[in-house]
Amino acid sequence: MTSQPMPRRIALISVHTSPLAQPGTGDAGGMNVYVSQTARRLAARGVEVEIFTRATSSSDAPVVAAAPGVTVRNVVAGPFEGLDKQDLPAQLCAFTAGVLRAEAMHSPGYYDLIHSHYWLSGQVGWLARDRWGVPLVHTAHTLAAVKNAALADGDTAEPRLRVIGEQQVVDEADRLVANTDTEAGELVSMYSADPGRIDVVTPGADLDCYTPGAQEEARRVLGLDPDETVLTFVGRIQPLKAPDILLSAAAPLIARARESGRRLRVLVVGGPSGTGLARPTALIDLAAELGITDAVTFLPPQHHDRLAFVYRASDLVAVPSYSESFGLVAIEAQACGTPVVAADVGGLGVAVDNGRTGLLVPGHAVADWTTALEKMLAQPDQLRAMGRDARRHAEQFSWEHTASQLLSSYSRALQSHAAQGGTASGAQALGRRAARRWRRRRTR
Ligand code: UDP
Repeated sequence: MTSQPMPRRIALISVHTSPLAQPGTGDAGGMNVYVSQTARRLAARGVEVEIFTRATSSSDAPVVAAAPGVTVRNVVAGPFEGLDKQDLPAQLCAFTAGVLRAEAMHSPGYYDLIHSHYWLSGQVGWLARDRWGVPLVHTAHTLAAVKNAALADGDTAEPRLRVIGEQQVVDEADRLVANTDTEAGELVSMYSADPGRIDVVTPGADLDCYTPGAQEEARRVLGLDPDETVLTFVGRIQPLKAPDILLSAAAPLIARARESGRRLRVLVVGGPSGTGLARPTALIDLAAELGITDAVTFLPPQHHDRLAFVYRASDLVAVPSYSESFGLVAIEAQACGTPVVAADVGGLGVAVDNGRTGLLVPGHAVADWTTALEKMLAQPDQLRAMGRDARRHAEQFSWEHTASQLLSSYSRALQSHAAQGGTASGAQALGRRAARRWRRRRTR
């Protein structure tokens, strides 16, 4: 039996968000967790991982040893602070120069493969791939065409610039990694990706950190009342994530609970991101308008150890997003034995086993969300059974499994690259194919 080729050292590119940042606010979210968790798991399998990210503070050391076998390189590209994500395309040349210079300090062939995360990184990886003669594996994480097809009220559409940039990366990458079959289908239908170059790799959760535990203890740690029913939102506060839907849907339930002498609390964990629901205080204002201020608790972004207490303290976790390529929060909550009510969009259909570990709600009508939450809370025995099944369901999604699937994808990329003659000729073949595609598109 011949063994599969494995990279010895990979360059992992994450331009807009550092794996060292606290997720749950600004641009730091699931992608940070993905990059940092997979890097550690790959390193544990003997693949050295170097992560290139943009320095966002003058105190960022150029090189940080993040974990055994994992190095973070903070590349200076533009001012440290005050640059929005939409300003970053103008810094890609500076960032790419930083990546190429770092590699040039070593002997040729230092990296065996590049894995880029998000389209901005794909643009950098595309150039570095041609220069180094190694394969490029790309994960989009989110796709502008998908996001624009399901915008929240008041949300701004992703610019055409991004769609064009994503298309170029889809055409150029040796392999594309999609979170789910749905995302793979979107890459094919919306970006004409070659299905033979797509690998579906499911993300995971840290199943050692996110474990079931006593609700009472978790509430004590967080200072929450042991007798209240707790509905929780965890994530970046932005229109796409729709925490406002949870507040609006919970308001009549809070009123009914009050009438019958019970108490229901909504817990919102996370910080502002993007348009941050127009202004940072928008959710506080909404709670006041709905007359539920005293029944809503806001917590700033929490470290993962403490987040495990948040999930354990909750009776239900809600993920009402308009679009979600996977939804790590849904898996983490279930890993802690907490059922999830989620919008039936994107990867959430895979993350939640509808009817067994939670409920999928079609659409975003507030009344439908109220009904779904009420239905779940009305049957405490069923809720407990769902919690037990939720942990079992979540156990399929480990980062170890994700790392194994990524290694298979890398192996395919190395094999096809070698079959195309390796080095620059493989890149030239891809370039010719991409040029043909763009010509066809222009003449349509
Ligand atoms: N997260 C966190 N602390 C918080 C809020 C969120 O560590 O206070 C993490 C959470 O554990 C999850 C990630 O941020 O791993 C969010 O990922 P998800 O896929 O749910 O959403 P994304 O941010 O990718 O849109």
